[in-house]
Amino acid sequence: MIRINQIKLLNDGKNMRSHNELCDVLKKKAAKLLRITENDVEDIVIMRQSIDARKKPQIVDVFMIDVSVKGASDKKAEEKIVSRAKDKGITVVTPVTYNFLERAGIEGDMPSKALDTRIAVIGSGPAGLFCAYMLASNGFKPVVFERGADVDKRQEIVEKFWETGKLDTRTNVQFGEGGAGTFSDGKLNTMVKDKDGRGRKALSLFTAFGADSKIMYDAKPHIGTDVLRKVVKNMRNEIISLGGEFRFETQVTDIVLSKDGGVNALVANGEEIPFDIAVLAIGHSARDTFSMLKDREVSMQKKPFAVGFRVEHPQKLINLSQYGIEEPKSLPVASYKLVMNTKEGRGVYSFCMCPGGYVVNASSEEGRLAVNGMSYSGRDSENANSAIIITVDPKDFGSDDVLAGVEFQRKLEEKAYELGGGKIPVEYYEDFKKAVSPFEDKTGDKNNPKEPVRFRDVCKPNTKGAYVFSNVHEILPDDLNKSFVEGMEKFGTMIKGYNSPDALIAGVETRTSSPVRINRTQSGESENIKGLYPCGEGAGYAGGIMSAAMDGIKIAEFIAKKLVETLR
Ligand code: FAD
Repeated sequence: MIRINQIKLLNDGKNMRSHNELCDVLKKKAAKLLRITENDVEDIVIMRQSIDARKKPQIVDVFMIDVSVKGASDKKAEEKIVSRAKDKGITVVTPVTYNFLERAGIEGDMPSKALDTRIAVIGSGPAGLFCAYMLASNGFKPVVFERGADVDKRQEIVEKFWETGKLDTRTNVQFGEGGAGTFSDGKLNTMVKDKDGRGRKALSLFTAFGADSKIMYDAKPHIGTDVLRKVVKNMRNEIISLGGEFRFETQVTDIVLSKDGGVNALVANGEEIPFDIAVLAIGHSARDTFSMLKDREVSMQKKPFAVGFRVEHPQKLINLSQYGIEEPKSLPVASYKLVMNTKEGRGVYSFCMCPGGYVVNASSEEGRLAVNGMSYSGRDSENANSAIIITVDPKDFGSDDVLAGVEFQRKLEEKAYELGGGKIPVEYYEDFKKAVSPFEDKTGDKNNPKEPVRFRDVCKPNTKGAYVFSNVHEILPDDLNKSFVEGMEKFGTMIKGYNSPDALIAGVETRTSSPVRINRTQSGESENIKGLYPCGEGAGYAGGIMSAAMDGIKIAEFIAKKLVETLR
């Protein structure tokens, strides 16, 4: 395959092309660059599309495409064409194609005896769902346990919670079919390198189950909560049709171990159910399950994570900063990524940025409140929001207990709940900053606007779940508040108006990643419990929908490999 990098097309807003029209334009470009006729181009596949706004307001779409050329059936023939093209951006590549058995190191078919293994998948978030799908599509019959409700019932329960404030601790934004990401922005990008093709495989499954195929090449793929729910349901139905099983509203409350220290059975709804293998894809919020694992002495360790607030700005302000236009018609609403280090050595960064989104009440425990961000596929709300979070590590947790990070989160969430009386507490940045006193702006950046940008009239809290103005600055300890303000001021030098007095600060963002790691070996198994496979974000091996899905696929490969090896 011949890969062409950096094909640039001006995005002038006038020429909004359909996918087919775009492919025609790219085909013409490819032929010219390869010095062949358009007729000689067999096919092109768009591998990546990104936006270059460095010379805003002139915006350029940048493409990476793979081209197959008629008559060039082997690498040698392709290399000949590439050398003729004399362009560093053009190379011959061997695309990575994903094959489950090959990745699992299995030759031939899966032995039928291995397929009789009783496998439980605990959790139906992306990690559990993709793991179960890979197992089921390769002949296994996994049983998926999910403490929360199926996605339709869950949607009703969550919407009712947002309307009434009455929390269901079994089914909520964290728990239920599809996991924590179901009521999310549905961003599908990841920092994890995709050398084994699991990322592309995961994207192709999202597409097969209902997402737009553009996610296969968009540099910032996004599907929104509405499409995500559809995908999750279609995937579940496919797993069932392949012989898998789902048990909703069924929490696994214990693991029964055999004499040799391996998984023997699971306890769910008071019933003991025999299993040989259990995939622990429980997410970062299953605090009671973490406690059970601690009681069972499953090898775990504390791990750093990050806490902070959701910050809202008018989407127009972000568009203007990123594109030089307030309302771009032919571009996706703008996003951002911000990172800095404070003088005290804390990292402060934007996390789970949701353009055109909502701040959501994402609580899962009575008397405790946590926020997060969500959007629909249209990303058409008036505000952009993002978590601005500060790194914390076990030194901050105040105890040596392996679950000290959980208790640290709980205290912050209790404070947030208390401040808002169960509603999302919100504060203008101006008031927050004044209260975090004495604050010295040490950033000393000359570009900082003297007159702060104000937009109070046009930025109202855009939340799912009621909000109330309150003293959000009372939630975090002083040093973290100062790091937050230091971060906000620095970010104001990167995006004009980011540190506006009118920016809205909502608290508290605590569920950023898991506060523990459930230790596993190189082959994916728990360090001390045979047959137990920690997986995804809760186990500390993923951060986000895509990486959790990729980890789920990886764990399915590990399981298949182990079973084949054991049978030999
Ligand atoms: P989870 O998705 O948390 O799934 C774990 C599942 O296990 C849950 O459904 C839970 O109910 C179940 N479970 C737990 N314990 C038990 C038990 N004992 N028995 C039975 N079932 C159990 N990430 C992105 O990449 N992009 C985004 O846009 C994005 N937006 C987000 C917005 C919100 C509001 C939230 C809350 C998260 C968002 N995230 C986003 C993060 C993303 O959702 C997680 O990284 C991802 O879902 C982790 O996947 P997982 O499968 O490891 O765990």
